[in-house]
Amino acid sequence: LAEQEAFNIEYWLLEEAKLQRMPKPKSLAGRIAYVTGGAGGIGGATAERLLGEGACLIIADIDESALNERVTAITKRHGRDAAIGVKLDVTDEAAVVASFEEAARAFGGVDIVVSNAGIASASPVEDTSLGLWQRNMDILATGYFLVSREAFRLMQRQNIGGAIIFVASKNGLAASAGASAYCAAKASEIHLARCLALEGAAHGIRVNTVNPDAVLRGSKIWEGEWRQQRAASNKVAEDQLEEVYRQRSMLKLSVFPEDVAEGVYFFASDLSAKSTGNILNVDAGNAQAFTR
Ligand code: NAD
Repeated sequence: LAEQEAFNIEYWLLEEAKLQRMPKPKSLAGRIAYVTGGAGGIGGATAERLLGEGACLIIADIDESALNERVTAITKRHGRDAAIGVKLDVTDEAAVVASFEEAARAFGGVDIVVSNAGIASASPVEDTSLGLWQRNMDILATGYFLVSREAFRLMQRQNIGGAIIFVASKNGLAASAGASAYCAAKASEIHLARCLALEGAAHGIRVNTVNPDAVLRGSKIWEGEWRQQRAASNKVAEDQLEEVYRQRSMLKLSVFPEDVAEGVYFFASDLSAKSTGNILNVDAGNAQAFTR
């Protein structure tokens, strides 16, 4: 009997070892993810994270050459069926509608929608033109509304639920001097997500928000005027900005696009099956957000 027991144990240990060596099933295998701003820093890292978990992608972006470059790189590595690119201005209602029709045609629907396409602009309120205010509202508040409305329509038609994730900003919660249009538009995204979480619950549609703060590397936003203005308002040289933000964080760490993508993946996957209407700050612990 003892011999038989020893044999059984050895047998099951071998089976266990075989199981450990078997590739784990990918958590998003068979799911379709639609990502706006996927040609940029955070959107690009998000696309890679979701692809890595087996999702197929629709990448939508206004920057056609960066979009083509990204889709070409992805399909080279993951195969032709892994991703399609759609040139899209998220402020163009007809184009947003058409992009979801394209997603339905190409992949049969969407399971995950990441609303991320965005800009940043800084300007003291007295110098802020109506045009600049409107541009922030159009791309951020209205763009996120249009994309999530079409996501709702398609997901409700599919009737299998879904996950919508907004990449908003710490600036949508904490005030920042000299960037009122951007902050107000980002606050609008956050509140829209919470309202949509309430509406989506009955249909199994979860809506959550990831708030990054100061992701300097890989972000095109930080290549332009925004960087100069933030350096001026912090009274430091542009190449010292990353260190300023790092020191301002509780953890004394810089935040990278891949860190934000990890938060998006959490809300896109079944890991967050019981989370909706939530906000995850990916900011290395921003003390300012606590004290204001
Ligand atoms: P990024 O500039 O690298 O990427 C943004 C992408 O959005 C670009 O590829 C751009 O072409 C695209 N885009 C801009 N306007 C568009 C439009 N009208 N229609 C479609 N696509 C459009 O910047 P990022 O840092 O990756 O920013 C992604 C999101 O994260 C934005 O919503 C931004 O506000 C937010 N965010 C960024 C930071 C940061 O520090 N980088 C911090 C907080 C929030």
